Amino acid sequence: MTNAYDWMARSLDTIRRADWYRSVKPLQGRAGAVVTLEGRKVINFASNDYLGLAGDERLIEAAIAATREYGTGSTGSRLLSGHRELHRQLELAIASLKQTEDALVFSSGYLANLGTIAALVGARDLILGDRYNHSSLKNGAILSGATALEWEHNDLDDLRAKLHRHRPHYRRCLITTDTVFSMDGDLCPLPQLLDLAEEFDCMVLADEAHATGVLGETGAGCVEHSHCSGRSLVQIGTLSKALGSLGGYVAGSALLVDYLRNRAATWIYTTGLSPADTAAAIAAIEIIRSEPERRAQLWRNVNYLKQRLQQTRATLLPSEAPILCIGLASPATALAMAKKLKAAGIFAPAIRPPTVPTSRLRFSVMATHELEHCDRVLEVLDV
Ligand SMILES: *Cc1c(COP(=O)(O)O)cnc(C)c1O
Repeated sequence: MTNAYDWMARSLDTIRRADWYRSVKPLQGRAGAVVTLEGRKVINFASNDYLGLAGDERLIEAAIAATREYGTGSTGSRLLSGHRELHRQLELAIASLKQTEDALVFSSGYLANLGTIAALVGARDLILGDRYNHSSLKNGAILSGATALEWEHNDLDDLRAKLHRHRPHYRRCLITTDTVFSMDGDLCPLPQLLDLAEEFDCMVLADEAHATGVLGETGAGCVEHSHCSGRSLVQIGTLSKALGSLGGYVAGSALLVDYLRNRAATWIYTTGLSPADTAAAIAAIEIIRSEPERRAQLWRNVNYLKQRLQQTRATLLPSEAPILCIGLASPATALAMAKKLKAAGIFAPAIRPPTVPTSRLRFSVMATHELEHCDRVLEVLDV
């Protein structure tokens, strides 16, 4: 007997044979630089909690207080019954951090990208995206119905050539890019990209997911770091990485935000952010503003681990972010290295195709790591 669902088992077998199979592993206890994985304490180089805020007492207290005051759920979409003063307070805090006129919070960064891209362009339009863009940018392009083309990673000559060739045939054009590439740690050439966009009359959507709270004088992100604050663009980000909460946002002009409130389906037809997540994110932004030393500590750790790795034979991929990757020959080697590290008490994931074109070990550094945590990586890697 066969049934209509059997193909899934065959498909999973193919995935396993390629060493692409993935499964979830439960972490125990509170988020932090040291966590308990499968019952053992491990140094955590696998989290996006760059500033160590997900386990911070102040965020926890803010989430508890908001839950007591408003309840667990926001009970409706923002346009119907789910809008709270707390949401607006968060949006104004994001706009202030990002130095934009306004901001809009979504239930996740993924949904912010899907909804924003599909609202900005449609069937008569063109999207040009960096080949290494995050999945949410690629799927947003598909959802929009626009013609979606990719340019070679960070290659502005290729982007210019594609703009020359294709831009005249479309109504609107949206250029999309990660600002910090999430599986590599390198940055997009934002100033030059914005110049090209002006030259060819294009909009730009920059995804600051791994940059917000991490890069820039005040933690505003790569836009600030690249001296592009105030230039016209659409900024996307997440509340779930350096901000230690859950949710996503769009920051930009008041016109953009007003338009998205009326056109972004992933914002209009979904429940508003929970009071706990909203309050935790507000507390995180306040800490980012008032404690720049946390960001300084993060960069001290990043520079230390990077410098030590550079002294070894390991192939360190180019990075200007707290994401440091060691290139490896195959998915099997990457898995074996990650296993060896885990056995020695270091949690750093193997990142493999199809997420990335080539396999690697990925280390995410946190402000709350100790220098000894970084030393331990070097001891165990033995390269
Ligand atoms: C993590 C990430 C997202 C998704 O954000 P979530 O809030 O986790 O959905 C989007 N874009 C990039 C570049 C990311 O790294």
